[in-house]
Amino acid sequence: MNEIESKDKEYIWHPFTQMQDWLDQPQMVIEAAEGIKLIDDQGNAYYDGVSSLWVNLHGHRHPTMDQAIIDQLGKVAHTTMLGLINVPATQLAEELMTVVPKGLTKLFYSDDGSTAVEIAIKMAYQYWQLHGKKKKQKFVTLANSYHGDTIGTVSVGGIDLFHRIFSSLLFESIQAPSPCCYHCRLVSDPQNCGMACIDEVEKILAHRHEEIAAMIIEPLVQAAAGMLAQPPGYLKRLREVTQKYNVLLLVDEVATGFGRTGKMFACDHEEISPDMMMVAKGITGGYLPLAATFMTDEIYKAFLGDAQQRTFFHGHSYTGNPLCCAAGLANLKIFREEKVLAGLPEKVAAAREQLVNFTALKHVGDIRQWGLMIGIELVENPGDKTPFPWELAVGAKVCKQARQHGLIIRPIGSVVVFMPPLASTVGEIKHMLSLIYLSIKEVTEEQKLQYVSKDVSAVMI
Ligand code: PMP
Repeated sequence: MNEIESKDKEYIWHPFTQMQDWLDQPQMVIEAAEGIKLIDDQGNAYYDGVSSLWVNLHGHRHPTMDQAIIDQLGKVAHTTMLGLINVPATQLAEELMTVVPKGLTKLFYSDDGSTAVEIAIKMAYQYWQLHGKKKKQKFVTLANSYHGDTIGTVSVGGIDLFHRIFSSLLFESIQAPSPCCYHCRLVSDPQNCGMACIDEVEKILAHRHEEIAAMIIEPLVQAAAGMLAQPPGYLKRLREVTQKYNVLLLVDEVATGFGRTGKMFACDHEEISPDMMMVAKGITGGYLPLAATFMTDEIYKAFLGDAQQRTFFHGHSYTGNPLCCAAGLANLKIFREEKVLAGLPEKVAAAREQLVNFTALKHVGDIRQWGLMIGIELVENPGDKTPFPWELAVGAKVCKQARQHGLIIRPIGSVVVFMPPLASTVGEIKHMLSLIYLSIKEVTEEQKLQYVSKDVSAVMI
């Protein structure tokens, strides 16, 4: 074990990690990166197949990104937004307004996805209080949803493994079914049901809209639940029913935003405009922590007036940090100059074409794709969808195997997640997918699967 690894193990507690397993196993030290590859301390290069946890868009050490941050460092790294304006935060806000869905006209900065969602929850709540609709306090969420790790965002989350232990700390949310056809429990023929899942949402709203402040949703894909893809049209219908019942629609584009689904935002696929939209991750091209919560004029204006009653009392030390906002500006510049969105359909189609081959693998149950967000669900028996016992840690084993082949990916349970940087070429996407194919085949068809004791966390993100 080298010095860095031993010091990491001496001092650091890693996220979403059973530290006993971490300590027991050799770990990789990343020292550098180039384009879409990460380089370890031995000089080995690995594809960054999950974009460094769904954040990196244009590759690492992109000259435009690097230069923008260096230039900003020559001016000021940080200054507060409490009582002061800074240049990059203002410029970025103006530019973001040109790419977000029409109808969203104002933004509130924060630091990461969880804070962006936390802000939306608090704002939606206060909005109805300000309107005198005091009973509108509840939030509707989808089963299996994930919106972050703070107490508010966990309250609107629905992943039992992560969230159950905290249940007595949380406020109560109303849960609607997860709209993923492969896992549908509502009807026997989900491909032809006319979206029974949206009918369930409508029933909830019709019955309880007077006590509901907002519905919050990860649009098109419930990513952290295992890339659970929604049927086309679901989001549009959701916009219609939330409007019909005067319930705010809060769209969490933390994972889907900035090109991941093939368009700038998931909302663009269904041409909808929510009441609020939350972004983080890709907003800085995956370089620095920054987030934004967007809202309509209508919501913003409700908070204008008497200071005591109508102020939104929320803010963070690094809100609107100039260095992060400079990275955000560089990110949008690359989208424009390198015509990133125009290049995506070819990449998305290449991935789709190659994924068809995966159906030949004996343990692939479902393949879900929205743009370059891909989940391959492994099951013991695809015929009746019998899952692999979690103790086998099949997803984790496939990802470990992929490392042997030069690809870093992370599983979510038995779902192998592939979310490459948007900058990946068609050739690189095909190569990475061929390595995933090989790893799945080796682990599920050629090796004897052994039970892994204790480490449920090792099978999750
Ligand atoms: N919302 C969604 C949809 C996410 O996928 C995530 C993180 N994966 C978050 C919120 C939380 O973001 P962060 O980790 O930046 O707090």
